[in-house]
Amino acid sequence: MAQDKPKRQPHNEISQGMARVKHIIAIGSGKGGVGKSTVSTNFAIALKNTGAKVGLLDADIYGPSQPVMLGLNKQPEVRGDYLIPLKKHGLVFMSIGLLLSEDQPVIWRGPMASKMVQQFITNVLWGELDYLLIDLPPGSGDVQITLAQQAALTGAIIVTTPQQVALGVANKGLQMFKHVNVPIIGIVENMSGFICPKCGENTPIFKTGGGEKLAADLGVNFLGGIPIDPELMASGDEGVPLLEKKGDSPAVKAFVDLAQKFKSVSSQVIADAAEPSSIALSDDGNLVLEWPDGQSASFSPYDLRISCPCASCVSEDTGQRTLDPKQIALDIKISGYEKVGRYAVGITFSDAHNTGIFKFDRLKSIEQKQKDSTGKTFNV
Ligand code: ADP
Repeated sequence: MAQDKPKRQPHNEISQGMARVKHIIAIGSGKGGVGKSTVSTNFAIALKNTGAKVGLLDADIYGPSQPVMLGLNKQPEVRGDYLIPLKKHGLVFMSIGLLLSEDQPVIWRGPMASKMVQQFITNVLWGELDYLLIDLPPGSGDVQITLAQQAALTGAIIVTTPQQVALGVANKGLQMFKHVNVPIIGIVENMSGFICPKCGENTPIFKTGGGEKLAADLGVNFLGGIPIDPELMASGDEGVPLLEKKGDSPAVKAFVDLAQKFKSVSSQVIADAAEPSSIALSDDGNLVLEWPDGQSASFSPYDLRISCPCASCVSEDTGQRTLDPKQIALDIKISGYEKVGRYAVGITFSDAHNTGIFKFDRLKSIEQKQKDSTGKTFNV
């Protein structure tokens, strides 16, 4: 029976309005009130000031504060199925808060909240951007997991304050991203001491160094500390972010340094991520991944099927393969495939098996093994 040829799928469904966004970065925190929105807004402007095209999405459905911080309160234009983001301070911007009236409480919970966020971010027409920063709601529940899995994130930044209690929950948020294979670009410590405007002395009101220690303990990058600066708060309330006012206060300098550090660390994270630039099926039915360096790798349906890493093919307890390759027809085909986030491809085979998620980094190392010992079958 003739198989329908699967379509080439360079982006997953959620990313239609984001098709021309180069990198999507989530900004999360374990706890609310650590200054995630203040950091996101000023960081976005510092990044824009380096010459990058930057979009900012306020997806904090439980406390969307960025319209106030950016001095925006008009409704976005709707064009067909899409929302057109607003422009201010050189940023392209959208917030769930622009769609809600000020006194409207947010009562979405669990799956409903996830669906809402998913729909919301799918329907924004971002245009061409170098970076889209997504200010997530605090915590590590359904909404954050949905976003992390579906928004094809390049990486995540975690904002914390130096206190132990904030660090503990920051770690939880970080583990959530790791769990869904989103690379951690680094940790930012906000409220990292108070610098006296008169003498320049740093008073560690909430102690300092906790974020740096957490980063070191977990083996992730420390991107920098932002001091407490009453001007940061006042400018947020005024609707003109401190970074837009320029100046050379320690907080402004800290954001400038943060943007520089972010750029160098994230380019390394991007280089390390084994994400293909395209996925396709060849005429003879092999899965072909093209890597950003122009090289490509070809995997036969049979080799992939017998190497399926799913729980029904590999024992979760022992890690031993439970699938007997003799059960698999030599002429098995790939009947569909779909990119999973930025880290894997899910494959449906002609025997209807569709639970295998093949991670790109493993496919890449398999490709290397194939090159080293041509002719041998591989294990994913
Ligand atoms: P979150 O998004 O984590 O809930 P916000 O960004 O809304 O936190 O910040 C909470 C409050 O703390 C706001 O009033 C904000 O102006 C203030 N704030 C945040 N970071 C700083 C800082 N580094 N210095 C001074 N005030 C800050």
